[in-house]
Amino acid sequence: MRQFRNYVNGQWVSSDRVFQDIDPVDGSLFAEVHEADRATVNAAIEAGRRSLSGPWGSMTVNDRASLLYEIANEIDRRFEDFLAVEIADTGKTRSMAATTDIPRGAANFRVFADIIKTAPIDAFRMDLAGGAHALNFAVRKPLGVVGVISPWNLPLLLLTWKIAPAMACGNAVVAKPSEETPGTATLLAEVMDTVGVPAGAFNLVHGFGPNSAGEFITTHPDIDAITFTGESRTGSAIMRAAAEHVKPVSFELGGKNAGIIFADCDKSKVYDGMMNAIFLNSGQVCLNSERVYVERSFYDEFVNELVKRVKALKLGRPADPDTGMGPMVSREHRDKVLSYFQLAREEGAQILTGGGCPKFGDSRDNGFWVEPTVIAGLPEHARCVKEEVFGPICHVTPFDTEEEVIAKANDTRYGLAATIWTTNLSRGHRVAERMRVGLSWVNTWYLRDLRTPFGGGGYSGIGREGGMHSLNFYSEITNVCVRVDQEDKK
Ligand code: NAD
Repeated sequence: MRQFRNYVNGQWVSSDRVFQDIDPVDGSLFAEVHEADRATVNAAIEAGRRSLSGPWGSMTVNDRASLLYEIANEIDRRFEDFLAVEIADTGKTRSMAATTDIPRGAANFRVFADIIKTAPIDAFRMDLAGGAHALNFAVRKPLGVVGVISPWNLPLLLLTWKIAPAMACGNAVVAKPSEETPGTATLLAEVMDTVGVPAGAFNLVHGFGPNSAGEFITTHPDIDAITFTGESRTGSAIMRAAAEHVKPVSFELGGKNAGIIFADCDKSKVYDGMMNAIFLNSGQVCLNSERVYVERSFYDEFVNELVKRVKALKLGRPADPDTGMGPMVSREHRDKVLSYFQLAREEGAQILTGGGCPKFGDSRDNGFWVEPTVIAGLPEHARCVKEEVFGPICHVTPFDTEEEVIAKANDTRYGLAATIWTTNLSRGHRVAERMRVGLSWVNTWYLRDLRTPFGGGGYSGIGREGGMHSLNFYSEITNVCVRVDQEDKK
């Protein structure tokens, strides 16, 4: 049986507490995972601290950037290993993992290597009375030891999205992947080892949240910052833990995102675009549109075509090129999604398609599948319209005016993303800017330039990462102010 161990101070660390890593396609056991106890997490944090005054701490920016490139190249070299493990952990389609998860895992290291090498510093000259002046310049330094905690939906992509900038800025990292998807994080530790990242600069610990590795990291007084992607409720628990020692936090949390379809949208693009926005990764992307608002004159046509396409979506094994959707990541998550299907019925929704579990007549019946689902007819205050499901479901509603749809789209405690479809250029700009979100797309969805800010407000997070925004979170900045007199006093 494949074993996923912890990686601490450049060494592999086993545990006598092992938990199971299940393949969600058919419920089979894929690997055993060694849960880090408190002593292992403490050792990882201490190793991180020591690395800052060792070879890692004294590396030049250029050398660090070269090392990040080597990490990216090694991920590319082991592409097929990463692909196989990511698929076994998540059940996602091979096509998605091969075009998004693994390449973005490598790209994150390259992008932040480039950004740190070219990052400017703030500098201001200030004239003073009497002819003297002062020069101010900002010095960027690492925060110290950064705790990175990530979810299961895009395991390698989201973990490296935080590890890469943290390391680019010279921090030591203690990373904890989701207990559901420990695989590619473990391969990443192998990569760090292969390319010669100095011991302690990167540490990996496996485990759960409360009373396990997650909590051991967030409550440790010697962690200097916490960067987290996951559920809003978990973010709130982590914030309480971080408050004790006043640690900086960067949070990328849940979403209940709106898709807005105007009748003048490009009909040759909107269906593919919205099928992706709703069902990519089986609806398990924080940016997915779970609320779809369609201009009334186009509503029936849009919904009929959407439902037709959803019915044709093939639920299949990851390697099958015809597969349109995979399973939910775990039994627990499948049950959560099914509970929302049930809630939709109780709230009086029309189920336009889906709403149950598929039957395959083969080993997939032991996996964690649900049907892609479209519902309609709920009032805006219904829980299914307000709460994040994080599954392959959307609620469709007609609207009449631009003002009305903007108000509805913004009527949420979340504030992550929106996607707007129209051929009216001015309207596209106007509506996109008025969305109360971190990411507003027009005639596209999920298109990401890694130099741009990423994140959300409200229940969707705190802060922005991406490009310079990441560097600003992962650095401590000292402003140096030097007074320069016009002539030296005798
Ligand atoms: P989760 O919050 O259950 O778990 C995320 C991570 O936190 C896991 O590693 C888990 O072990 C750990 N954890 C749980 N409780 C903890 C605690 N008390 N202390 C420390 N660590 C703890 O989230 P999930 O179910 O893995 O992921 C799905 C959620 O993530 C969804 O809400 C989704 O919207 C969100 N998400 C957000 C983004 C974004 O960029 N905004 C991206 C992806 C996913």
